[in-house]
Amino acid sequence: MVVFHQQQEGAPPGGRRLFGVKGKGMVGLAGLGAPMPPGFVLTTRLAPTAVTDGGGLAAPVLKALQEGLEQLQTLTERTLGDTGHPLLLSVRTSPPAEQPGLMSTVHGIGITLETVPALGQALGDARAAWDVYRRFAQSFGTHVLELKPDGFDDLLTKAVDEDALDGEHELDTAAMEQLARAFDQYCREQGRPLPQDPTEQLQLAVEKGFRSWNTPRAREYRRFQALDDESGTAIVLQAMALGTLDETSGAGSFATRVPASGEKTLHGQFLPVAQVADLTAGTRMTESIQSLGDSRPELLAELSDWADRLERHFEDAVQVQFVVDRGHLLLVGCVSAPRTPTASLQIALDLVDAGIATERGALRHVDPKVIDLLMHPRLDRSSDPEPATKGLAASPGSAVGEVVFFAEHAEELAAHGRRTILVRHETTPEDIGGLSVAEGILTATGGLTSHAAVVARGMGKCCVVGASNISINYHLNEMTIGDAVIKRGDWVSLDGNTGEIFLGQLPQITPSLEGDLARMLAWADASRDMGVMANADTAGDARRALELGAEGIGLCRTEHMFFDMERIPIFRKMILAVDQIGRSAALADLLPMQRRDFMDLFRVMDGRPVTIRLLDPPLNEFLPRGVRSQTRMSRAMGIPLEVIQRRTEVLSENNPMLGHRGCRLAITYPEIYQMQVRAIAEAACIVKKEGVKPNPEIMVPLVAVSRELAVLRGEIQVLVDRVMEEMGETVPIKIGTMIETPRAAVCAGSIAQFADFYSFGTNDLTQMGFGFSRDDANMFLPLYLEKNVLEADPFISLDREGIGAMVRMAVQAGRATNPQLKLGICGEHGGDPTSVAFFHGVGLDYVSCSPFRVPVARLSAAQAAIEADEG
Ligand code: PEP
Ligand code: MG
Repeated sequence: MVVFHQQQEGAPPGGRRLFGVKGKGMVGLAGLGAPMPPGFVLTTRLAPTAVTDGGGLAAPVLKALQEGLEQLQTLTERTLGDTGHPLLLSVRTSPPAEQPGLMSTVHGIGITLETVPALGQALGDARAAWDVYRRFAQSFGTHVLELKPDGFDDLLTKAVDEDALDGEHELDTAAMEQLARAFDQYCREQGRPLPQDPTEQLQLAVEKGFRSWNTPRAREYRRFQALDDESGTAIVLQAMALGTLDETSGAGSFATRVPASGEKTLHGQFLPVAQVADLTAGTRMTESIQSLGDSRPELLAELSDWADRLERHFEDAVQVQFVVDRGHLLLVGCVSAPRTPTASLQIALDLVDAGIATERGALRHVDPKVIDLLMHPRLDRSSDPEPATKGLAASPGSAVGEVVFFAEHAEELAAHGRRTILVRHETTPEDIGGLSVAEGILTATGGLTSHAAVVARGMGKCCVVGASNISINYHLNEMTIGDAVIKRGDWVSLDGNTGEIFLGQLPQITPSLEGDLARMLAWADASRDMGVMANADTAGDARRALELGAEGIGLCRTEHMFFDMERIPIFRKMILAVDQIGRSAALADLLPMQRRDFMDLFRVMDGRPVTIRLLDPPLNEFLPRGVRSQTRMSRAMGIPLEVIQRRTEVLSENNPMLGHRGCRLAITYPEIYQMQVRAIAEAACIVKKEGVKPNPEIMVPLVAVSRELAVLRGEIQVLVDRVMEEMGETVPIKIGTMIETPRAAVCAGSIAQFADFYSFGTNDLTQMGFGFSRDDANMFLPLYLEKNVLEADPFISLDREGIGAMVRMAVQAGRATNPQLKLGICGEHGGDPTSVAFFHGVGLDYVSCSPFRVPVARLSAAQAAIEADEG
């Protein structure tokens, strides 16, 4: 328990975690000697055991409450339950991070029907005393007794309408008393009478506040936002300030910066003769804070002075609530100010430039969304265009181009410098050529981790998926959206931030502020302790990743190298070979190409780690589907169509995601990984001779059984050693695995005997953990979200409760077996801010994500580190 009051000398130690957001504000205000009603905080330390199993407050809370109350009574010279001029209290929940679902403020604790008249006399204002009771009745009734708010609202509306008033502020004393009594009566009628014992009121409100930590809404929100679930909420109790006693009184609220722009000016509202709660009730016209310059210039000057002092103290833009009690300013609340993502960056830069905040302090409140907004071109919506339809916003930015329905058409038009939007039901690895040249990608089906979505994010390209109102006719080269028919060559514009699709050619706004972003990200790098790597497959991707601040490659998906026009026929030859000799011959042709790929990557990443994942997808993904493509392949390779079709049939799988893929391929066809490992080792030796510092790591995908890795590690090590000997070089190469099957997560302790590193493949771990197919989940996931069955798409934001528990378990077991084990994550979650915070919490060494998400990961990792340091 910590008391706060105006005459305090300095603030007691502790921050958000101990006092909660509101408590931190009050303690901070007191430390600065701000004018304020005194109060005390029941800290989060009391929270986990605050309520006994049988109900009621536990002894330590009762003791703290009693002590706090005694000190408050001394400070205010008033007593709770006094029949003359009693101490009145407001009770607020104060969680360590803002969250919905907790108990809202309860006002007027301490008042009873019996003491209202005496209070009226003491205040010299009977109406104000009845006003306190009706506020107590309404707030206690709804928030503690859980009565429906409508009952109170109806009574209030009736009272106001009866006398044709503008609002409850116009009720006279008799009408106010009548309303207060009606509220009291309503509670009794509902079987929940308002307690008339002040101590009971106080204890019930405090208990309800502590309990509200566990409402389903609060729990879900914390899970979704990756917020600490254990701490519980602090409770702030404060002497009630009255802003209703005369015309000089009132209440207001302001932010020190404009939320939309970040501009430094007081932004807020004021209401004369009011309490703070009235500001948002919407029944009265408020005045802007700035207009106080005319009506109450000294008050505005005083508020401005406090705004500056508070910003300096909290190293942040703040939102302040205040009451004016018969001319005297009292600050009753101070929390971090609301702001849009763009304003959040502006404010951080301004605070640092003005010497108000340190770089670390300013970074805490930068919204990671600002990076997506500023890094990609946006659609100019000044003409207020109507979207034709909407899909899922799969990759941010915008794209404007001519519609094409085939990857080849995108490539043909791109060769003539034309901008295209590739529209497909869904894309497949075969479309890679078209995907890489199209401006944007639009699919009618598929979810946020469908092929199109993942590839587009990897390329930093705008993408909208799952636009189910689109109907595509490939034969006619057209699509329809409602009545509109859009033919090949027609223009469309995509908004990757909202998922909206517009017909025609909207103008685009190119990003600015790169200098500011870069500056803020440099602070982030200095503040984080977790590495940020990129998922990159080519030298071009790797260069982009470096530009965006990646410290290495955490995942190189080697299969993407085989889709190149020059290589796919050779890879297909390998697949069609009837025996190992045939496969090895084809692989021998691929070896120099793979070697070149790796040499390029090592050169670009010079000295930085490059984690190369050996082949993962099932072989059937490399064969064309549909007679048209198969015929083309038959002609190009001089192989009869029937042979291709037969092989395709043999290799087809009902569920390829759970089929013959990953390390399973290496157990059955060892020569594939042998070629890849040789290419890696040779490339490393060659570039080392050039003076480059190769730092390769070989990663085995989809391990489920420790023996898989034991066998493959043995084979890989033997081959690496042989190549090194042949080349007369030594390059240390780590060998590790992905943890992406639930069994591997559970058995991470034994697998760690054979691994130098683990990289969590949270895409597959989510897929297999939930049993949700990555490609098909979009059929039901949107509804799951709509019906609140799930709070967030688990393919975007890591499900901490289930998948996260597996990650945590695997981290602990893996490190217990092998303390040197390097731990990272390379699923899509590596670029998601809330997931990054979770990965920091479980102690991963690095996250790896698509190059374009690297900046978001840098900021998120810094915020997670700063947060962990905060008290
Ligand atoms: C994963 O499963 O998280 C992963 C990174 O691998 P992929 O997405 O290629 O299956
Ligand atoms: Mg995977």
